[in-house]
Amino acid sequence: MNDVKLGVRPEVEIAGQSGRCRETTIRRPAFLTVSVDDGHSSDLITAELLCKFGLKATFYIPRSNHERPVMEPSEIRELSTMFDVGGHTLNHTPLSKLPRDNAWNEIRGCKDWLEDLLGRPAVSFCYPRGKHNQRVRNLVATARFVGARTCDFNINSFPRDPFRVGVSTHAFSHSVAVQVQHALLQRNLMGLIGFVRTSRMTTDWESHFRRTLDYVETHGGVAHLYLHSWEIQQRNEWDKLTRVLQDAGGRTQVVPITNGKLFSLATAATGTIETLYSKSLTSSGH
Ligand SMILES: [Zn+2]
Repeated sequence: MNDVKLGVRPEVEIAGQSGRCRETTIRRPAFLTVSVDDGHSSDLITAELLCKFGLKATFYIPRSNHERPVMEPSEIRELSTMFDVGGHTLNHTPLSKLPRDNAWNEIRGCKDWLEDLLGRPAVSFCYPRGKHNQRVRNLVATARFVGARTCDFNINSFPRDPFRVGVSTHAFSHSVAVQVQHALLQRNLMGLIGFVRTSRMTTDWESHFRRTLDYVETHGGVAHLYLHSWEIQQRNEWDKLTRVLQDAGGRTQVVPITNGKLFSLATAATGTIETLYSKSLTSSGH
């Protein structure tokens, strides 16, 4: 379960072997990932729960955040021994409207800061408040992050673009109106369809993520839970988070991976498609 390669799954199940023909069912790859944003000290409680249920996760941590304190460097180091720790800018600054040089300092600066602190490459990035555009995505790629997470909700499919990776469920019970408004603002049509079809417009985030897991177990894709530990603390939802993570940890048909691993798989899959495309051009004489 530790080192997953796209293509190891799908598994082929053989049914009806006593009959004349043998039916086959291809099971698509199914992954489970968790992201935890902002680096509040209550992330250490979330980390304990994730460890308890055998789950993998990426913690996105800015160096500072004017909205709430960020954990101590020694705590970030401790977290990094068990989990992927990703960049979230230096100062938790939304990037899409920043001048290029300031955006670059926030992106490249947080990578340098994390790598100095942890002594290893920081591969994952998350756009503060989910704000991104093509220019920002290019800067994140130029800074040599492997991929980046957005705040596009209700996305359960395998990512096509490693620098625009959405999430399935925000651990916060949004109203239907907020979900629809958010999808329209983010121009997230796929998410809007997912909210209606897969989540059946569920507002309770526990049911929302269970339905996502049910869907991904059956159809393949990625079940991606995104949370702020400070929000869980504020709303006194630790029991709820425990139930959700326990359920997720017991699902044998989904493979737990970090966001970083998911980005690498998405890059590899894109590379494969590009290679196949260039080969087809060569063989057709172009
Ligand atoms: Zn954030």
